[in-house]
Amino acid sequence: MAKKRQTKNKKNMNSYLRPNMMWLWTAVFIAIIGFSLFGEAAKEPVESDWSSVEQMIAEGKVERIEIVNRDEALVFLTPEAVKELKSEENSRYAYLPEQGYQLKFQIGSVDTFRSDFDKAVVLSPKAVKLTYNNHSQDWVDIVLGWLPWIFLVVFWIFIMRGFGRSGGGAAGGGIMNVGKARAQEFDQDDPNRKVTFKDVAGLEEAKVEIMEIVDFLKNAGKYRELGAKIPKGALLVGPPGTGKTLLAKAVAGEANVPFLSISGSDFVEMFVGVGASRVRDLFEQAKQKAPCIVFIDEIDAIGRARGRNAGFSGNDERENTLNQLLTEMDGFQTNAGVIVLAATNRADILDKALMRAGRFDRQIEVGLPEIHERKQIFDVHLRKLKLDPDLDREFLAKQTPGFSGADIANVCNEAALIAARHNKKFVGKEDFLAAVDRIIGGLEKKNKVISPSEKRTIAFHEAGHATVSWLLKNANPLIKVTIIPRGKALGAAWYLPEERQITTKEQWMDEIASTLAGRVSEQIFFGHLSTGALNDLERVTKQVYAMVAYYGMSEAVGTISYYDSTGQSDMAFTKPYSERTAQQIDDEVRRIIGEAYAMAEQTILANKERLTELAELLLEREVVFTEDVERIFGKREGTTPTVEPDTTATNA
Ligand code: ADP
Ligand code: ZN
Repeated sequence: MAKKRQTKNKKNMNSYLRPNMMWLWTAVFIAIIGFSLFGEAAKEPVESDWSSVEQMIAEGKVERIEIVNRDEALVFLTPEAVKELKSEENSRYAYLPEQGYQLKFQIGSVDTFRSDFDKAVVLSPKAVKLTYNNHSQDWVDIVLGWLPWIFLVVFWIFIMRGFGRSGGGAAGGGIMNVGKARAQEFDQDDPNRKVTFKDVAGLEEAKVEIMEIVDFLKNAGKYRELGAKIPKGALLVGPPGTGKTLLAKAVAGEANVPFLSISGSDFVEMFVGVGASRVRDLFEQAKQKAPCIVFIDEIDAIGRARGRNAGFSGNDERENTLNQLLTEMDGFQTNAGVIVLAATNRADILDKALMRAGRFDRQIEVGLPEIHERKQIFDVHLRKLKLDPDLDREFLAKQTPGFSGADIANVCNEAALIAARHNKKFVGKEDFLAAVDRIIGGLEKKNKVISPSEKRTIAFHEAGHATVSWLLKNANPLIKVTIIPRGKALGAAWYLPEERQITTKEQWMDEIASTLAGRVSEQIFFGHLSTGALNDLERVTKQVYAMVAYYGMSEAVGTISYYDSTGQSDMAFTKPYSERTAQQIDDEVRRIIGEAYAMAEQTILANKERLTELAELLLEREVVFTEDVERIFGKREGTTPTVEPDTTATNA
């Protein structure tokens, strides 16, 4: 059974897109500035002086001189002279402009210049014109001169606004706010949004533990009087969608205090130092609102153990953020009335420093719900739906092993959507079954093109799974087999996993044999291998490696576990065992898979006719249920699921 989960995509795309656009604009900007500085410099009149010009006049190179504003002389050279000057080697005149004037120099006063000029002109082989011109600077020149600066200012405004949008979020924008924490605050005064323990189903133990925190917040005085220190934080540990956020909100709701929520990934930014300053800001906000609850979702984004892969990435930024968080938690007084709740789905990879006394010293497990808890969660989410009066909630809970609270909420909503699509007045059982199927397997792909021979292969593959899992008594009981393509899968055998906490080696072997049975059946009936078994093989291989290397279930390797619950070592780079053991593990994995393969083969060979019957039935009906399998193979030795089949379920 593969399960779909919706991952919470909290980062908006915007914040990823912005920086890219920014680089583009930066490049354009630099090009403009560069061009205006160096491109223009390429053709500049040369600063000169009277004695040089005097000599040029004598050589007949000067055509005309213009006196501007009585203090500057602009020298226009003859075209030949310009050419000549430019071609001189290492000439300082290499970039003389051909148009307009080429040289300029400051004159002391017009009178002295005039007399010097008259003297020089006498020696010139040709006449030199002298003109006077009084003009104020052209406004176009002024604007052109300022252009780069105007650009700079516009550009600056642009990035400020850009950052504002990407970094602003709820707290409002502006580059000045980059270091501000974007905590979302839930207003407890709004009765529609207020969450209490009534909205959290199941999770009894977690609730008891977290109830304490409510008491700390409500009756802080009682504890203080006795000299007790109120804990600062608790860690909610559990798979996604099990209600960690919900629980934290409920604490705030019950205690009637503000609830500040932020995700761990919000601290991680591309700017150095931002994470740390956001942490500081978050605690600043919290202290002002105290008593209150601060909820940090996905704390693993910053709280991962330090020093892992240090040589590779050296993510100092994340480390700084984590250090700041630790400092803040140590820093605020125990009686400040701020309690930090953090959620993660892997406590083992968190830095141990986070769990030390005075920080997140309490860990509250929030696990996947058991059958009776699922019933309660259904009760919570069915409240809002218009239901078929004889809907059996027990039945729904039974149909959804391994579902999280979020999955169940999803099933309820999906069922209502399906019922509405069929124009029903109530949401009924078949709508729920269709919703469950859809959430597990994805959408049915009825129009996927599958050739008849492929269909046959798939039918025998799935019938193989069904046969072996039915006949090996420790395997999970089968609910139904289908050859309707759904999501990526071309067919599926659906089992009802038992609700169990430990698995025996025998159970695993039987399950592995059933998983391999698809491939075995193809091999026996068609004599060729197909790619259809990829998913099965992948699962089996991983499982058997875990059996050997983690659970100590192989004699040759021994009762040894190389599992690392701390997550400190990186198996990908350094294996905690010798080459010889590695070889042994590989050999054992091969042997065990071979053994399971043989089990499947034996079972199928002994039941060839019955398997064929099942496969034919599958080809005819596309979906086959427990009762049909039971009719063909007889009663099952192991547990048989008590699920009533419902043909409409798969026709949604
Ligand atoms: P997490 O934070 O553990 O990923 P959430 O608290 O965000 O999960 O849960 C997502 C949704 O799933 C909730 O909004 C709620 O509708 C539903 N849910 C999860 N667990 C429960 C529960 N125990 N009781 C009722 N609803 C639940
Ligand atoms: Zn298969």
